[in-house]
Amino acid sequence: MSTPPPALVWLRRDLRLADQPALHAALSRGGPVIPVYIHAPHEEAPWAPGAASLWWLHHSLQALAGELEALGATLTLRRGSSLEQLRALVRETGAGAVYWNRLYEPAITARDATIKAALREDGLEVHSFAAALLHEPRELATGQGTPYRVFTPYWRAACKRGLERDPLPAPSRIPAPPSPPASEPLETLDLLPRIRWDSGLAAAWNPGERTALERLQSFIDDGVGAYAECRERPDTDGTSRLSPHLHFGEISPTQILRALRQAGYEPTDGPAEPFVRELGWRDFAHHVLYHFPHTPEQPLNQRFEAFPWRESAEDLERWQQGRTGIPVIDAAMRQLWETGWMHNRMRMAVGSFLTRNLRLNWHAGARWFWDTLVDADLAANTLGWQWAGGCGADAAPYFRVFNPQRQGERFDPDAAYIRRFVPELARAPARNIHQLRPGLAADYPAPMVDLKQSRKAALDAFATIKQSG
Ligand code: FAD
Repeated sequence: MSTPPPALVWLRRDLRLADQPALHAALSRGGPVIPVYIHAPHEEAPWAPGAASLWWLHHSLQALAGELEALGATLTLRRGSSLEQLRALVRETGAGAVYWNRLYEPAITARDATIKAALREDGLEVHSFAAALLHEPRELATGQGTPYRVFTPYWRAACKRGLERDPLPAPSRIPAPPSPPASEPLETLDLLPRIRWDSGLAAAWNPGERTALERLQSFIDDGVGAYAECRERPDTDGTSRLSPHLHFGEISPTQILRALRQAGYEPTDGPAEPFVRELGWRDFAHHVLYHFPHTPEQPLNQRFEAFPWRESAEDLERWQQGRTGIPVIDAAMRQLWETGWMHNRMRMAVGSFLTRNLRLNWHAGARWFWDTLVDADLAANTLGWQWAGGCGADAAPYFRVFNPQRQGERFDPDAAYIRRFVPELARAPARNIHQLRPGLAADYPAPMVDLKQSRKAALDAFATIKQSG
């Protein structure tokens, strides 16, 4: 029997070899397999990956190329139009089939549907697979057949349907074509910043599948048991920090559930449950984005279209730079800038501060996070910002205004987190920091807003749309 023609595996945000359905299916076909990554950020507009994401992508592709090399394959890198590049590769290699794993952002689903139809029209076999989530966005619906807008019933339905499946093994060898197609050097994709501000990212992270698996293992060994207790504390290492690895598909939620079970944890009961529930929020975010694709730009709760947001480039910049004069907010914003990541509790606190105390549009916050987070994810970021803005699915009501002083006292009682990221305050006592005593440090600004007055102004502004709604 003759060997089938080569198959292309079009890699996107599934940069791993284990539990990789597209790669697995392509290999099962029996012919040579050509893994391809096409850099086409313009196709994701208006949400082309931001600077921190591109930094991650560079290192993740580098790591993946090394892992593929060890199995006998070469990662082919291209850039330009995805469809044109796939067609060019088909011509150059004589490939008969194209495989990929599905993504769910609006611009990408539209592009992928066009590409699938075009390649089939060309006479190719095209297969796509579920690989990123526990359940795909279309798998779950309410009793009325509508999408969920509230997490608890969504998660109940998801658990009832079943969360676990068998992860696919990593291949031990990948048969390559006699001569691999030409590839762009990684450097020419221009993913790293021209002005090298990324030393903090490099110190904090090590992208790639191998590190993702190691991080998961160390979280299972040392973190998951105490997750419920420590997850709200930015001054501890209480969460998994798997978010960028999950975003780039260096690890799948299915692998996480399997590893938990192998370590003796029941995913939906006992100490692992609150952590697995967060993976549920990740799925829920994708469900909401898929069914309400306008939400990166517009509030889900339409009443907020009329909200009287302020505009102030200067205030926005002080928030972005962590120079608000509210220590816990500044620590969080500087953690983001320095490491490309921010603790979830702090994401909620800075979101509340931006949208209530500064009364700036949640959208400005979403855009800043988009550029600076290594885990920037359109689904999770949109859900998170609409939650913070009080206008999204299952959101914090707008009238609930976080008091940053209390957040600091409760979740960073010794001000260790604050001192770590705001070195000007290294010598100030925790009490003075939390109570915003004047003159905390000579080079630290006074609070840019009065917390009480700005809270009241936010509630007054909210009253104007409450009446209209
Ligand atoms: P863990 O607590 O260990 O949770 C495990 C995994 O569950 C995470 O890695 C993540 O994939 C998922 N997860 C946890 N919380 C959430 C959540 N609330 N929504 C969706 N998924 C969740 N998360 C992103 O991955 N990308 C974003 O761009 C993003 N933007 C956010 C913006 C705002 C304003 C807010 C409030 C939250 C945002 N989140 C985002 C959610 C959450 O803050 C991060 O997922 C979490 O802090 C990542 O840290 P971790 O991996 O240690 O999480």
